[in-house]
Amino acid sequence: MDLSTIIHKTAADLRVAPNFSDYEAERHGFSWDAIRRTLGAQPDGGLNIAWQAVDRHVESGAGDKVAFRFLSRGGPAARAVTYAQLASLTNRFCNVLRELGVGKGDRIFILAGRIPELYTALLGGLKNGCVVSPLFSAFGPEPIATRLNLGKGSVLVTTDQLFMRKVAAWRDRMPSLKHILLVAEDGGSTAIPGTLDLAAMMRSATDACQITPTTSEDMALLHFTSGTTGTPKGAVHVHGAALTHWATGRYALDLHADDIYWCTADPGWVTGTSYGAIAPLLHGITSIVDLEEFDAQRWYGILHDEGVTVWYTAPTAIRMLMKAGTEAARVRAFRRLRFIASVGEPLNPEAVWWGKNVLGLPIHDNWWQTETGGIMIANTPAFDIKPGSMGRPLPGVDAAIVRRNEDGRAELIDSPGTEGELALRSGWPSMFRAYLNEEARYRKCFAHEWYLTGDLARRDTDGYYWFVGRTDDVIKSSGHLIGPFEVESALMEHPAVAEAGVIGKPDPVAGEVVKAFVSLNKGFEPSEALRLELLGHGRSRLGASVAPKDIAFLAELPRTRSGKIMRRLLKARELGLPEGDTSTLETGS
Ligand code: AMP
Repeated sequence: MDLSTIIHKTAADLRVAPNFSDYEAERHGFSWDAIRRTLGAQPDGGLNIAWQAVDRHVESGAGDKVAFRFLSRGGPAARAVTYAQLASLTNRFCNVLRELGVGKGDRIFILAGRIPELYTALLGGLKNGCVVSPLFSAFGPEPIATRLNLGKGSVLVTTDQLFMRKVAAWRDRMPSLKHILLVAEDGGSTAIPGTLDLAAMMRSATDACQITPTTSEDMALLHFTSGTTGTPKGAVHVHGAALTHWATGRYALDLHADDIYWCTADPGWVTGTSYGAIAPLLHGITSIVDLEEFDAQRWYGILHDEGVTVWYTAPTAIRMLMKAGTEAARVRAFRRLRFIASVGEPLNPEAVWWGKNVLGLPIHDNWWQTETGGIMIANTPAFDIKPGSMGRPLPGVDAAIVRRNEDGRAELIDSPGTEGELALRSGWPSMFRAYLNEEARYRKCFAHEWYLTGDLARRDTDGYYWFVGRTDDVIKSSGHLIGPFEVESALMEHPAVAEAGVIGKPDPVAGEVVKAFVSLNKGFEPSEALRLELLGHGRSRLGASVAPKDIAFLAELPRTRSGKIMRRLLKARELGLPEGDTSTLETGS
């Protein structure tokens, strides 16, 4: 069959009336002010994500509704937390912080898997007016310390085991850190010197709490992302982002009040926070949170047994399910499932059709990035899917394809089908407000009113956007954005390595995997033993999901005359592609 065939929406595909059906009319009538009015006024006149996401529902009488169902293997069947319980837990956590003298604007880092305490700390921290930064729990000690130091974290919430494995030995290198709150992974208590037992502090805290007043422009979340060069970038997000999270939950995920929703993203990345916690809570619905890692049978079991209605996942996960075979899916019928969306990497047309043919529903790709704070371009229930396209800009979002001019202006490319940089008109509520302490880097992302995304794309005659690639060298592996510079720096800390160049190598399941090329210092010779040692060094410093999966030795790395390693050339050579413009290549390499 022709995989590019348009998937027309039928009543069977939709199953319930979607939140909107006329795309043009909805865009035309849209206003962010109206969304603000829909969310409702807070008693203190301000805006706080946690109040909107939790307390608002309790005050309107929906406190008994389940907010989260936490699933774990071998543990209790499922732990359900209602909105009223979540309000109480987050109040307590807010009071724990106050007890420690932690106040508005202080930075709280969270390093944990998808445990209940992560959600409590995230929302309780926001209630206290703190800035919360969730970290990917699979990071190794180096990326953790780098981010915590850049963000001047004063509180770290983590588990006893993660602390011992990843933080304890690096503790002295994190001078801003004042309090370490530990969750015992066995459910008991912890008593590690220099740390505090969170469970004990929660027990003795009261659950009466006045939220610290915040406005829509107060800083709420700090999400780190990677660029091609330099340190990771701390994208600053504000409480007003809640408007985008609510609106996109309505348009791109089609959330309805009685949904059982499952977002599979890890909260250490922006999707897991914005759509694994905030958006579904703003809609007052029930979310499934699985504490375990990917397992095809388990995932099909969850979709079926939990009666998931809306599922938000990622291309790598879908490709892993496809690899597990059709039979595994067909064992169960997913009668309640009615909407599937995906984000993070290009979703190939095969995967869109696999959804339709095997799960009975097409997969709706959508696009956004850490900086945009929320979904910007999406396939929605309101229009047909062109498999392979990211969809169309959501109501409230203006997108364009542009070319950057020498003078820094963005020239709009009007002709459909022409490739250029994807740009968004500034002004949506969840737009990042800064790269922490990096004003010049932030300013470089804008050309007048346009935010330049760093992605290449094209728009077709029907206004659908098609992803083409990145303008830079960042790597997307299993949906995680990896900065080559961070990997190169860690490799160069090994005494054998003189220089390192890191690329993303295409992979049928993960999208890309990290491959490093290294040249060695005098006195070191390439050998299999050294290769394995360097792979191990990468894993222990960076964590398995960021470390190179492959390392090759080169006598010298190709460099520009100004001394920059030409990753583009390394990649072209690796893939046997044309080497392109090599006029800046330093001769002799
Ligand atoms: P992150 O900031 O880690 O969420 O990564 C954002 C980047 O992931 C984007 O700039 C794109 O390069 C890529 N990305 C996200 N969604 C999609 C998508 N639907 N199709 C293709 N690439 C995507």
